[in-house]
Amino acid sequence: MPELPTGLLRNDQIVTTRAVLDQHGHGESYGETSLPDAVLFPESAEDVARIVRFAAERRIPLTPVGANSSLEGHTVPLFGGFSVDLTRMDRILEIRPEDFLAVVQPGVGYRSLNEAARHSGVFFPIDPGAHATLGGMVSTNASGTMAVRYGVTGDYVLALQVVTADGAIVRVGNRARKSAAGYDLCGLFTGAEGTLGIITEITVRLVGVPESASAARVPFPDARRATSFVTQLVQAGVPAARCEIIDARSVHAVNAFAGTAFPEQMTIFLEFHGNPAGVAADVALARDLASHAGALGFEAASRREERERLWEARHKTFYATVAANPGKRNLVTDVAVPISRLPEAVASALEDCDRSGLTAYLVGHVGDGNFHLTIFYDDDQHQQVEDVAHRMVSHAIALGGTSTGEHGIGIRKLRYMEEEHGDALPLMRRLKRAVDPEGIMNPGKKIPD
Ligand SMILES: Cc1cc2nc3c(=O)[nH]c(=O)nc-3n(C[C@H](O)[C@H](O)[C@H](O)COP(=O)(O)OP(=O)(O)OC[C@H]3O[C@@H](n4cnc5c(N)ncnc54)[C@H](O)[C@@H]3O)c2cc1C
Repeated sequence: MPELPTGLLRNDQIVTTRAVLDQHGHGESYGETSLPDAVLFPESAEDVARIVRFAAERRIPLTPVGANSSLEGHTVPLFGGFSVDLTRMDRILEIRPEDFLAVVQPGVGYRSLNEAARHSGVFFPIDPGAHATLGGMVSTNASGTMAVRYGVTGDYVLALQVVTADGAIVRVGNRARKSAAGYDLCGLFTGAEGTLGIITEITVRLVGVPESASAARVPFPDARRATSFVTQLVQAGVPAARCEIIDARSVHAVNAFAGTAFPEQMTIFLEFHGNPAGVAADVALARDLASHAGALGFEAASRREERERLWEARHKTFYATVAANPGKRNLVTDVAVPISRLPEAVASALEDCDRSGLTAYLVGHVGDGNFHLTIFYDDDQHQQVEDVAHRMVSHAIALGGTSTGEHGIGIRKLRYMEEEHGDALPLMRRLKRAVDPEGIMNPGKKIPD
């Protein structure tokens, strides 16, 4: 047990009770557990800086934690030490609709930010399925159902305050919408999974709430036709704001969980944003393309409550599938491929699961070539699940894609870094050593030793 930073924090900011250690010893959908020696709850950048200086002097590993919803073992404190839980730093410091920006502490959830911005005509358009924190989202470069139109978290980071591995509090970036000054240090810390520093304040760009929106539900007989439709939609330049796939099994689970009555078929969920005339034209073109691609129907919804119900159901998919498989373990994994290779990547992953006798659920942000499988299994099927996930990732890389479109590397995907990055990996290692020479920042994640 390392020395605790008593005297540097109040007693209630240092927790060693078994329940809290357990809670911080594992992540979502990652089987292995490793407990921290203590969980620290900083309430300011100065608290974080004191923690980091204390840990750096004693070479104690630090694992930053937000909502702990990451899926690849990102927050599991492999080497013990302190979990640094940022959720008490949850203040929205500023919302400036006239500059389309907000300044928040890292523990603010994106839904809370949007709730606070609701009446200002602006919003933050990245919406991962879980109620993730902005600190975690920046650190995983998260995206969500609207990435096809609005991009990923990294596209919205204007400035950061970061406590670096020597305990210094550093500001990077500014409030301008663009800048050509210096190295892009916001980009360096974005997606770093807590391995380069601890983010203590975030300035994000916001966008205007669209004047008009419409959603559509488009069922298909199979995955190949559904994903071919998406490819044609993107190639035709239809600016969908959301373009999601859910398979029949997932729709069934959502209906049972959320009390909805969606037809239980392979379904593409769409949403369009813009002015009323533009949205109507987009819906008409999508309807045409869907019919040519073999859709079984096309149901549009423009009322706000209808659209919200549809997306709320979509966001519950993971929890619906967990409820449908009591007592089973699950593995969630995501890949992304060039959009034209999507039909073969999805079909091959689903066929592989079927051949291996595994129950898998398909959901995905297919508008940007990104899909996820959630596979449920019993203890004795662990190896089969790992093998299927491995083949899915290897296939995506072979198609010119990536081992993860949005969930990140964590621990489980370390094995693909060499294959995916080759010559760039030594440079990444040099960067890590330069910024964190003692290796105390979330060791064992993101970059293989
Ligand atoms: C049901 C479900 C649906 C999901 N859907 C999506 C999706 O659509 N898109 C998507 O991208 N992801 C999705 N995810 C994954 C997850 O929600 C995202 O990775 C999210 O960004 C993690 O945020 P968090 O606050 O939970 O971070 P955590 O899980 O707590 O941490 C994530 C990583 O960031 C680091 N970190 C956290 N806070 C800080 C900080 N302040 N400074 C430095 N490092 C920090 C941690 O060390 C860790 O490496 C989903 C997860 C679930 C369970």
